[in-house]
Amino acid sequence: MTVTSPEVDLTGGRPVVPSRGALRPLGLGEVRLTGGFWSARQQVNGAATLAHGRSWMDRLGWTGNFTADGTGSVDRRGRQFSDSEVYKLIEAMAWELGRRPDPALATELDELTGAVAAAQSPDGYVNTAFGRPGQPGRYTDLASGHELYCTGHLLQAAVARARTGDGGRLLDVARRAADHVCDTFGPDGIPGLCGHPEIETALVELARLTGQRRYLDQAALFVARRGHRSLPPHAFGWSYYSDDIPVRAADVLRGHAVRALYLASGAVDVAVETGDDELLAAVAAQFDRTLARRTYLTGGMGSRHTDEAFGDDFVLPADRAYSETCAGIAAIMLAWRLLLATGESRYGDVIERILFNVVATAISDDGRSFFYANTLHQRTPTRPVPDDEEQLGFGGGPRAPWYEVSCCLPNIARLLASLGTYLATAGDDGLRLHQYADAEVATRLADGRRVGLAVRTRYPDDGLVLVRITETGAGPWSVTLRVPDWADGATLVVGGERRAVAPGAVEVRREYAVGDEIRLELPVRPRFTVPDPRIDAVRGCVAVERGPVVYCAEATRPVAVDTDPDATTTDGGDLDTIRIDPAVVPVDVADGVEVRARFDAPGGAGWPYRPPAATSAGPGSVPVRLVPYHRWGRRGPATMRVWLPTT
Ligand SMILES: [Zn+2]
Repeated sequence: MTVTSPEVDLTGGRPVVPSRGALRPLGLGEVRLTGGFWSARQQVNGAATLAHGRSWMDRLGWTGNFTADGTGSVDRRGRQFSDSEVYKLIEAMAWELGRRPDPALATELDELTGAVAAAQSPDGYVNTAFGRPGQPGRYTDLASGHELYCTGHLLQAAVARARTGDGGRLLDVARRAADHVCDTFGPDGIPGLCGHPEIETALVELARLTGQRRYLDQAALFVARRGHRSLPPHAFGWSYYSDDIPVRAADVLRGHAVRALYLASGAVDVAVETGDDELLAAVAAQFDRTLARRTYLTGGMGSRHTDEAFGDDFVLPADRAYSETCAGIAAIMLAWRLLLATGESRYGDVIERILFNVVATAISDDGRSFFYANTLHQRTPTRPVPDDEEQLGFGGGPRAPWYEVSCCLPNIARLLASLGTYLATAGDDGLRLHQYADAEVATRLADGRRVGLAVRTRYPDDGLVLVRITETGAGPWSVTLRVPDWADGATLVVGGERRAVAPGAVEVRREYAVGDEIRLELPVRPRFTVPDPRIDAVRGCVAVERGPVVYCAEATRPVAVDTDPDATTTDGGDLDTIRIDPAVVPVDVADGVEVRARFDAPGGAGWPYRPPAATSAGPGSVPVRLVPYHRWGRRGPATMRVWLPTT
């Protein structure tokens, strides 16, 4: 049976389509990245990362777990949640097909869809780790089995495929799986919930796509059930799966970071669709407090390795930054939903910070290796990783081609393939730009007028953003630009008139003609940033940022600067002893930013605690070149640090 939704949008899809809110998201057919920083990464994603993910999933048997007869399975391979990685890869393929036609990729997606469909039981259940002979029974391990989590990713993949032109077989599989979930966990069913949120946001999006209210109701039920300690006690506490406090009663995100952020995203979706403004405000307040107290400078979240969790307020040690790549992506998901709901441009700041400093850091230049955790301070040199070996640990180290748990790579892939949709939105009366990149945007306003614009920029290398009107109708309309939170001293030039603009949203409303130009000049230059003194782990340090990009010191050779006259760049130097001179402002130099620093003589070899005394200074200060944090670890084994002690 083929189900065709009335909402299937052949012009190109959007991951999130709320039925109400301040802003309307634009689809891949309406916003196209045409060049620059993200376009390059998007092309590598399509050309290499998708195939890389597929080859590893085939090799490790994760795709092969979807056996045709539904009986599976004694040889099932991978962790309990490996189905979800296959679904995320399918989702990434779908968004990629929304971006550009690719018959071979479409065939591959169809083939994977066929495998998933064949593994689905007649009652709609689909999961390769449970319910078959020799396996645990269905839903016997809700706390850690990830069954509903996997189903959620299946639904998201199907939504992506439907919104990029094929509302057929995969959507049919997803609807039957969702019906099974509703039948099993509905008001008259098992009163349980999954230890790993994800099904909530997925059910809402499937409801938005299909118009089926029961999926939304089920999502709302799952959100309402959480926080009552109905899951089994966990060694890390009920907070590990956000089951310690009801969603609307909590004041901050806590526990496992990805779980908490996926849940918050689903809660926003439920709140928007049900008109539950109290729930929306509660999640927005939790996110605000999390940003203020539990977020790294990079936008990364999660400082506890043991349980991949948020630490307490201000527990943000640089050298123990977990900052899982998936947590960054999940925070983008949450910020995007809040941006659409509220129209507050500051959520665009959050997304930008995470994109340039977590997502861009995580993936290698060739798109074939990645960071699972994103530390802000690498004390011992990273080591080369063979490109054909799966890594068992994921708490640090270099980018690796694959990990035993490889949630992050397909998550990056699905985000990059759909990234165009995060650039711009439409309001009632115009277009809004949230991220700056070479792009073309065209859509129809609420009154039917077609409008369009093209963006040209070298951002984030420099701060000049040119917006040229490419389509317009009669009468005035608005172009609204985000002036980033760091951009004090920005200037806007419209029709030859120049004016200063403050951080926030700046609206330019007028009767446009094709060819009209808006020029935004953002002050992209290096600057020092200091931490809140309550973040004890980095008190007395500075970081350097330039526009939205966080910089770092990186040492690729184990030499001491005081004995190597050439080591005045980031090639060398003992970063444990670096002391930045905060009186000398950082300046742009070729391929980086230069600061002045002194390298203290290393302390003694013994007991590292001693009476207070001035540290023994090495020779005078030397120039040290910092590089964008997202570029670290790309030149071979290296030490690195973002937060730099001062003299
Ligand atoms: Zn991950």
